[in-house]
Amino acid sequence: MRLLRLTPLLIAALLPAAAWAADKTAAEGLASTADPVQVTCEKISHKLGSVSLAECLQASLQTTGAWSVQEQPILIKEYPPLGNRTPRARVLMLGGIHGDEYSSVSIVFKWMQTLDRYHSGLFHWRVVPLLNPDGLLQAESSRLNANGIDLNRNFPTPDWYAQTRDYWERRTHKDPRRYPGEAALSEPESRWLYEEIRSFKPDVIVSVHAPYGVLDFDGPPRAPNRMGYLHLNLLGTYPGSLGNCAGVQHRIPVITMELPSAGIMPSDGETSRMWTDLVRWMARNLPKRDTKKAYASFDDIARALNSPLTVRTKAGG
Ligand SMILES: [Zn+2]
Repeated sequence: MRLLRLTPLLIAALLPAAAWAADKTAAEGLASTADPVQVTCEKISHKLGSVSLAECLQASLQTTGAWSVQEQPILIKEYPPLGNRTPRARVLMLGGIHGDEYSSVSIVFKWMQTLDRYHSGLFHWRVVPLLNPDGLLQAESSRLNANGIDLNRNFPTPDWYAQTRDYWERRTHKDPRRYPGEAALSEPESRWLYEEIRSFKPDVIVSVHAPYGVLDFDGPPRAPNRMGYLHLNLLGTYPGSLGNCAGVQHRIPVITMELPSAGIMPSDGETSRMWTDLVRWMARNLPKRDTKKAYASFDDIARALNSPLTVRTKAGG
């Protein structure tokens, strides 16, 4: 009797959930055969209040052939040279190395909209709005990738194993959010990025993070003093970080833009002031004369750092 009395209530409570579950199964069935860009855009727009599905799709991101630990695609947008104009410099822009720094992904989408409208061929851009899709696109977003590794400590720097281990144990007291992994470039996301730097040969790397509210710079001088409301404040280098690897070891300028909040987007005004200052600085300062030399010795430096990429390349001939 009791069961019967409850049944209509239970049915009423369960129906929407059941319908939702059926929808979800259908969507997942579609997802397995669907375009990976569409699927990833659906997930990004669910996660980020400031990136709608339409905005993400309009970006016309492409697959790179690289996949995260959980086999989500690393997507890229290229703004190639135009016509007869030789670009002044190549620029690699990155968002979302840390999956819980939402604004670092959203703002790169906003800047891609600016490029969609105004790309003039002055620079040759490759833009990766989300390097760590597994970190962002899960129920509770994480700084780390799906193997629990801080990608920004996984790049080859001198004496990688001892230095990152020592730093992690003594300076961070084994903070799991700063775990560098067992070996440099152990992760598909960091491995892809290092290979992309080697093959694309950017004159500058722009990496967006949050929430320290500063501008950081590694590599050959001179650093920009400010971009929008971000003022230069050299944070120092960490064993295994991208700034240390690309900027200090390889001598490729790395601009790190630390937005002041991970969860709140800068105003439209600040978003465009940072952009204008970035473009102006690049137009005045790039290419640095030494960057060509940096790539001439890229493999030598990588080998000296014992990078698994060069070891693998060597083994493969
Ligand atoms: Zn970060």
